[in-house]
Amino acid sequence: MDLGISGKWALVCAASKGLGKGCASALVREGVNVVITARGAEALEATAAELRALNGGEVRTVVGDITTSEGRAAALAACPQVDILVNNAGGPPPGDFRDWGRDDWIKALDANMLAPIELIKATVDAMAARDFGRIVNITSGAVKAPIGTLGLSNGARSGLTGFVAGLARSNVAARGVTINGLLPGAFDTLRLRTTMQAAAGKAGQSLDEVMAKRSAAIPAQRFGNAEEFGAVCAFICSVQAGYLTGQNVLLDGGAYPGTF
Ligand code: NAD
Repeated sequence: MDLGISGKWALVCAASKGLGKGCASALVREGVNVVITARGAEALEATAAELRALNGGEVRTVVGDITTSEGRAAALAACPQVDILVNNAGGPPPGDFRDWGRDDWIKALDANMLAPIELIKATVDAMAARDFGRIVNITSGAVKAPIGTLGLSNGARSGLTGFVAGLARSNVAARGVTINGLLPGAFDTLRLRTTMQAAAGKAGQSLDEVMAKRSAAIPAQRFGNAEEFGAVCAFICSVQAGYLTGQNVLLDGGAYPGTF
């Protein structure tokens, strides 16, 4: 299917690895020009080389922390126009809320709520003026079903989701701009492996044992991969998905137990 977005410009945040990289890769395959960001130049340039080898859209890189105003300004400056915005950043650490102070909360809110809102603010009106825009916020299945140890993530991402639910239904909806959340369940990325390694250490088990136990609890009996995550992201950004807005699309192999 031709997604009708060849030649558009996308800003894909936090995209040197994992889910952001999967999204950037799927968009480049569709002929979308991308600006990808990450904090470390080495991994970012290696990913850019992989994406350029796809012979799709143009690939630009910006090194910087997307949770800072400087990082966001640099990312926006590298993108001639933002037709597609994929918001992403690292997730907050696990823990017990009794141990978190204001600074921990501000850090989580900056990364997983306020940075995406600032980027939306910087781009959404220009999208509306051009009668086309796609905003995809990579959040988490924790938005639908909270994860006990990830209170910072549950809280910050729910804040973003609530804000966006209102914005998606504002006057931008009639101007071709869609805003949706893409909610990963368990995807086999560096983040997942790091979290599982910590769990394995605590339980005195091997990483393989912990991963096998975790994937056995998913109806699909496996973890997701970044390529399939990216493919859904690209579809949400397509011309065909123009009537899909204000939604939270859960990709979790059936792990969420509810009917809706
Ligand atoms: P990952 O660690 O594999 O990749 C994260 C990417 O973001 C890397 O390229 C890293 O360099 C970049 N990055 C992190 N912080 C950044 C910042 N401040 N500025 C710029 N770049 C930054 O992680 P992932 O698994 O791809 O997860 C992406 C997001 O999805 C995270 O917020 C994560 O918490 C969330 N999530 C992941 C899963 C999963 O199973 N993998 C599940 C639920 C939620």
